[in-house]
Amino acid sequence: MTTHTSVRTRIAPSPTGFLHLGTARTALYSWAFARHHGGKFVLRIEDTDVARSTQDSVNQILASMKWLGLDYDEGPIYQMQRLARYQAVIDQLIASGQAYRCYSTPAELDAVREAKKARGEKPLYDNRWRPEAGKTLPDVPLDDSGQPLPFVVRFKNPADGDVTWMDLVKGEITINNREIDDLIIQRQAPEGAPTGALGIPTYNFAVVVDDWDMQISHVFRGDEHINNTPWQINIFKALGAPLPQFGHCPVILGDDGQKLSKRRGAVSVTAYEENGYLPEAMLNYLARLGWSHGDQELFTVEQMVAWFDGTHLSKSPAQWDPAKLLWVNAQCMKQADNARLAGLVAEQLTKRGSAPTPIRAEPVEASLANICALFKDRCETILQLTDWANVFYTEPDRSTDSYQTERAQHVTDAVKPAIALLATKLQALSDLAWDKAGIAAAIKATLAETGLKMPLLAMPVRVLVAGKAQTPAVDAMLALFDSKTVLRRLSHA
Ligand code: GLU
Repeated sequence: MTTHTSVRTRIAPSPTGFLHLGTARTALYSWAFARHHGGKFVLRIEDTDVARSTQDSVNQILASMKWLGLDYDEGPIYQMQRLARYQAVIDQLIASGQAYRCYSTPAELDAVREAKKARGEKPLYDNRWRPEAGKTLPDVPLDDSGQPLPFVVRFKNPADGDVTWMDLVKGEITINNREIDDLIIQRQAPEGAPTGALGIPTYNFAVVVDDWDMQISHVFRGDEHINNTPWQINIFKALGAPLPQFGHCPVILGDDGQKLSKRRGAVSVTAYEENGYLPEAMLNYLARLGWSHGDQELFTVEQMVAWFDGTHLSKSPAQWDPAKLLWVNAQCMKQADNARLAGLVAEQLTKRGSAPTPIRAEPVEASLANICALFKDRCETILQLTDWANVFYTEPDRSTDSYQTERAQHVTDAVKPAIALLATKLQALSDLAWDKAGIAAAIKATLAETGLKMPLLAMPVRVLVAGKAQTPAVDAMLALFDSKTVLRRLSHA
C-alpha cells in the first residue's frame, strides 16, 4: 500500500449548525499541523445529511473560519457535488464483491436487533443479504410493476481479524471485526424518487473517498469518531487507498463534567465573537485545551505553528474553563494594536446605536485608538472596552442607583467649591492647551488652593464625567474628552 509523501490535512464540518468549539479546535490542530509542515489544509463541507444541512450553517462556518484566521488552501468542497464520484466507487465495490445491496426493510432490521438484544447479543446486522461462497441469497423483493424494492448498499466488512491503528492522540487502538457489522454506505433512495433512483452515500463512506481523493495524510477529529475509524480503515484497504494517520481528540467537558453542550453555555465560535473575544485568544485557549508546549499558557499563532508537530496531545478530556478563557482574552487585549481595537469597538458602538463622533478636531479613529490605549488594560473583552468608550459619546445615565450611590458618596457639599474652582481653571485652558499636562496643572493648582488631597477631588470628577468612581488617571482620561463635554458634565455637581 502506498503512503503519503506530503502533509495534507482537512476539517470536514457538517453544516447542521454553527462551528462548534470542538470542531474549531480540531480545525486549529489540522491547520497548525499543515502549516508547521509546509503542507496543505483543505475545507470540506460534509452535507450529505440533506435534511439537516443548511446554507445558513455553511455561511456561519465559513465566517467563523475566517474570523479565526484558519485559512484553507483548497475548498470549500461540498460532498453533495461529488455524488457521481461516490456512485462510481460504490459501483466498483459492488462489481468486485466488496459491497452488496441489502433489501431488508426497517421493520425486519428492528426485529433482528430486538431478537439479538433479547439473547444478550450485540444488535448487529444478521448478514441476510451478505453474499458468501456457497450461500443462496433471498429473492430480490419486487413491487407491483416488477421493479426491485428500495435497498441500501452495505460494505462487506472483513468477518474476522483485528483493525489496528496507531492513533496520534490515544496510542494503539485495536478493534476486532466481529464487533462491527456491514456498514451501510449508501442510503435508500428517498421516498417518492423515480424508480431506479439511488440514495445518498453515508458519512463513513464519503469521508473515505474524499480523504483518498484529497490525499489527506493526517486526520484530526473528535473521539466520538473512534468507533467509525475501523470501518473507514477497512474501506480504505478495500479500495487499495493509502491510509491517513488518525488522531482522535478527547471531548471537551463543561464545568459539570458533561460533554460541552448548548444547554450549558455558549458552544459556538460565533457566540464568542459576539461576546467580544479576540480570535487570537480563542486560538490560544483552544490550542491549550488538549495540547501543551511545556507549561506555556500564552503564545502567538506563529509560535503555535512553530511548535505544533502533532505530539504533546492530551489523552484525557479537557474541561472548558470560561474564567481562563477570559484571562487569556484580557492578556491578548493588552497586546492588541490600539487602532485594531478601535475598529472593533467602533463596530460595537455602532451596533448599540451610539456610533462614535469626532472629539475636537481629531478623526474618530484616532481618538478611539487613544481611548482603547488608556482603557484596554482594565478590560477582559471588547464589550467591556466598548462600555468604557461609550462614556465618551454618551452622557452618564444619572438616574441609575449605582450613579446615585457614587454621587452621594463622592460629590459632597464640602467638595463642590473645589469642583467649581477646577471648572474655572479648565475653562481657561483653550482647546489648544487641552492636554494631559495642562489638565494636570489645573488639578494641582486647585488642590493647592483648596488644601484638598488628590483622591477627594479626583473621585467626584470621575463620577461626574465618566459616571464611575474607578477610572484610569483622571488627567489622562479628561484629556481624551473635549473641554466642553467635561465642563458640561462637571456642571452637574
Ligand atoms: N462531518 C464530520 C463531523 O462533523 C467529520 C468527521 C471527520 O472529520 O471525519 O463530525
